[in-house]
Amino acid sequence: MAEFDGRVAAVTGGASGIGAAVVAALRERGARVAALDLRPVPDADGVLGVRADVTDDASVREAIDAVADRFGGLDVLVNNAGIGAQGTVADNDDAEWLRVLDVNVLGMVRTARAALPYLRRSSSAAIVNVGSIAATAGLPQRALYSASKGAVLALSRAMAADHLREGIRVNCVNPGTADTPWIGRLLDRADDPEAERAALCARQPHGRLVSPEEVAHAVVYLASPLAGSTSGVGLAVDGGMQDL
Ligand code: NAD
Repeated sequence: MAEFDGRVAAVTGGASGIGAAVVAALRERGARVAALDLRPVPDADGVLGVRADVTDDASVREAIDAVADRFGGLDVLVNNAGIGAQGTVADNDDAEWLRVLDVNVLGMVRTARAALPYLRRSSSAAIVNVGSIAATAGLPQRALYSASKGAVLALSRAMAADHLREGIRVNCVNPGTADTPWIGRLLDRADDPEAERAALCARQPHGRLVSPEEVAHAVVYLASPLAGSTSGVGLAVDGGMQDL
């Protein structure tokens, strides 16, 4: 028997990168999985693609209700949808701050609010939020993005305290630079993509980018009963960067 047999998971941002790797990893382990994304995800055996915009409360509620309706409940919520932002505080105006916080922080609040009534009825409920090493690393040119991911870490710890006694564990995974289409887009904009890629690899203590599958393994662990006594942690998947 696979460890997620009989369990239902919803993964935001499930169309690409880390989210797509999480969808595949949960499915491989027996879960029925919904991929919630702005972009379409084709339905497959045990995988349901649901169009949803995490900045739109009604869209999120409809999507979560549809998943629970289709699969008969919800046990795991993976809050992964996120967008980037570059620059110092001098570079991003209020509208840009609100746009990024709306996706990266409020997006997670909306999905959690919609999912909680279902998670409370689950016998092994878990929420995993995807943060970033940017929450604690003090990266240059990432003021807004870092603030949004710091909020994700704080939110995860606060939610863990609020919901543990309801049987819902809440944890956070903090990836280092991961080899996803997001980073591909960043490299496409660089003057010298090869040199930029080498610089990103050199920033990781293990000299390479983190794979989306490595992040997915951490998410799967925290969502699984193996982590039954773990709630409120931020698990780094960054080649040791946070320890430098
Ligand atoms: P990605 O761009 O490959 O995928 C992000 C997905 O989120 C896309 O499919 C996109 O359509 C979806 N999305 C964006 N806005 C949405 C919205 N409003 N509603 C619903 N879906 C939306 O990015 P990725 O690299 O896989 O990143 C996933 C998560 O991992 C993000 O939260 C990101 O901050 C985090 N992260 C990424 C890295 C990295 O280096 N790639 C490092 C640390 C943390």
